[in-house]
Amino acid sequence: KTSWLAKLKGGLAKTGQSLGSLFVGVRVDEDLFEELETALIMADAGVEATEQLMSALRARVKRDRIEDADAVRQALKDVLADHLKILEKPFDVGHVKPLVVMITGVNGAGKTTSIGKLANALQQRGAKVLLAAGDTFRAAAREQLVEWGNRNNVSVVAQDGGDPAAVAFDSVHAGRARGMDIVMIDTAGRLPTQLHLMDELKKIRRVIAKADPTAPHEVLLVVDGNSGQNVLSQIRSFDAAVGLTGLIVTKLDGTAKGGTLAAVAAGSQGTRPVPVYWIGVGEKMEDLQPFVAADFAAALVG
Ligand code: GDP
Repeated sequence: KTSWLAKLKGGLAKTGQSLGSLFVGVRVDEDLFEELETALIMADAGVEATEQLMSALRARVKRDRIEDADAVRQALKDVLADHLKILEKPFDVGHVKPLVVMITGVNGAGKTTSIGKLANALQQRGAKVLLAAGDTFRAAAREQLVEWGNRNNVSVVAQDGGDPAAVAFDSVHAGRARGMDIVMIDTAGRLPTQLHLMDELKKIRRVIAKADPTAPHEVLLVVDGNSGQNVLSQIRSFDAAVGLTGLIVTKLDGTAKGGTLAAVAAGSQGTRPVPVYWIGVGEKMEDLQPFVAADFAAALVG
């Protein structure tokens, strides 16, 4: 646990004005609050969340008569953990079989990497996992997934070229026929502005429901933690198109923008606070971790 927390902490501390450093050898006065406010904005928490956090922090400092900077640091951790709690939700696999999971996101967000990590983690817990190479757009993406499946003993449904919706449909049927616990359907990367591709995503979702009217049970958006406030518009667009049930936030080992999750939790800019199931803190298999608000807050504040 310590090692991934350290990676998260290392990444989040990359901001020039790391939150933790603000508390060293200072008095608790208006200057400190102003610097904290600036640091939260710099970490991409956005104006709404920053205001909410600062007013909660001020109230707590007053209530508890806090006079020591280190106690303010602890109070900020607590306030942030409370604020982020709304995003915490365990990823529940056993309630339906097979659990059908559709995975979406823009190019380069970390979809394929996260699917590999997730498949591995679930398989280690004893689940039978089937992957669907729904990115029929790039042959390389399909090959990458097939090869990954071979190496890790995970079955992959793939088709040469063809229709991603058909691949998705086949995989749900295959998942049921083969008694799989989980079917994870990869989709090609796309931007919210590419409307025809967003329509294609809606179609994939509709066709999945033809194979199983209760599916997809989970629709995940993979977002790059470095995207900052851009994450909000991605959530809004994908949510409007296919109804998101959860997020995977990647690359938190190398970003100074960890505050973005505070903006998501605040429902900034009309974004629904979609739960964060997993966070990515590196490129290795074990670098996908469940999101825990208190741990994240502790790592961000330092
Ligand atoms: P896709 O286009 O969404 O499928 O993105 P990929 O899965 O191919 O990932 C794009 C790049 O990001 C690759 O070089 C990955 O190794 C890298 N990547 C993915 N997740 C993480 C993460 O949590 N941390 C770091 N440092 N790199 C990551």
